[in-house]
Amino acid sequence: MSKSLIERTQYAGADLSLSEICELLSITSDIDLDLLWQAADHVRRQEVGEDIWLRGLLEFSNICTCNCLYCGLRRDNTGLPRYRLTEEQILEAVHRLSRLGIGTVVLQSGEDPYFTEERLIALLHAIRNTCDIAITLSIGYRPKSELAAFKRAGAHRFLIRHEIANPDLYRVFHPDSTLADRVEQLKDLRALGYEVGSGCLVGLPGQTVADLADDIALARELEVDMFGVGPFIPHPDTPLGEATPGSTLMTYKMIAVARLVLRDVHIPVTTALSTLEEDGREKGWMRGANIVMPNATPAPYRAQYELYKNKRCIDDTLEHCRGCLGRRVKSVGRVIGQGRGTSLKLLRREVLV
Ligand code: SAM
Ligand code: SF4
Repeated sequence: MSKSLIERTQYAGADLSLSEICELLSITSDIDLDLLWQAADHVRRQEVGEDIWLRGLLEFSNICTCNCLYCGLRRDNTGLPRYRLTEEQILEAVHRLSRLGIGTVVLQSGEDPYFTEERLIALLHAIRNTCDIAITLSIGYRPKSELAAFKRAGAHRFLIRHEIANPDLYRVFHPDSTLADRVEQLKDLRALGYEVGSGCLVGLPGQTVADLADDIALARELEVDMFGVGPFIPHPDTPLGEATPGSTLMTYKMIAVARLVLRDVHIPVTTALSTLEEDGREKGWMRGANIVMPNATPAPYRAQYELYKNKRCIDDTLEHCRGCLGRRVKSVGRVIGQGRGTSLKLLRREVLV
């Protein structure tokens, strides 16, 4: 049954029903898994080609007013040293990315009230005036008026995962927001002309395969430009510290099935996946992914952006990461994309209007 279903996905994956998505995510035999990886790799090649795009991740503040149960940055984690980069430090890191030919910076932080609309607009202007780089914001919830102002000030993309598409479980893990809030923000971002990234965690306690199928279906409904899937890794100083980590196999299946369903979307291999498996990046790229996010956060702050313990590559410089990723990309027969790596979905949308 799975074999014929997998074959069908290569041509008509976008139309899979929820039960078919569940069936693919439930595959366990080595033979069927190999077929799934091959189908995802085929569709990846056909839809987004051989490029692997680098998105430089700059974690500019680890201060957060939220209390998500799984995250080491949650406000109740009082043992974590907190930091906030200055505008000069941020600009220096962005310029370093640009000098290395990395076409995107992802400005990521906790929900830090210090970074008001005015301060972020000033920062966006400073980057746009000194550097030719695509700017992604990943700063959590913001009202629509601010999202519009950031777009006008030069932000190109926004990344905010819906995290888990089951509204009841969303409520359990996120005391400060609802799934409906996140979905509304994703819709607002799309309406404002952003390239929009969403995604989910794999392996949160109580999450089922049907929930994961809903995660992919929600991303399809929202027509996201980027879909990031990472395994949940328990942080000992959070309420989920004793929980079991998310499965890497299920994460690969999510990447592969997301590629079959979402077609020309950008799919990253996440740091969380490569933290749990040394060769997680290579496997992810061979199973549907086409993005990686080298870490551009300067020492000593990188180690303090502690979503979970033992994050990979926290002692490496950006230059070292760039070299290492170049070798890894080559080892899977692919090439590093040159330029910004704009969403193919967005380019197609623009052709249609
Ligand atoms: N505060 C912003 C937000 O929540 O969208 C951006 C920063 S947040 C740290 C980025 C992502 O980290 C979240 O979307 C979440 O999925 C992921 N994350 C947080 N804690 C994690 C954990 N323990 N294991 C794996 N991923 C985690
Ligand atoms: Fe804050 Fe984001 Fe972590 Fe939630 S996931 S506690 S919003 S940094």
